Amino acid sequence: MLGLSLGKLLFTIIVVAAVFFGWKWLSRMQAVRGGAPRRVREKADRPSAPPAVEAVDMVACPVCGDYVPAKGARSCGRSGCPYPG
Ligand SMILES: [Zn+2]
Repeated sequence: MLGLSLGKLLFTIIVVAAVFFGWKWLSRMQAVRGGAPRRVREKADRPSAPPAVEAVDMVACPVCGDYVPAKGARSCGRSGCPYPG
């Protein structure tokens, strides 16, 4: 009947079902894998969380040009360096 045997029909149904469930499984795996980093990012974006490292102002040494912390700067060793140490 119409050149379609029961075996071919069954094979087609099995192939379509395998592709459908394979696609569903793959998208579920990607959601599980992509879900964890998103949760971490949301945690990091929380405004109440304190910053891990505080920013420090830097100033350029007038002698060598190296940037040193404005507070607690130490001498670079060259003569004329205004910082102690
Ligand atoms: Zn210097």
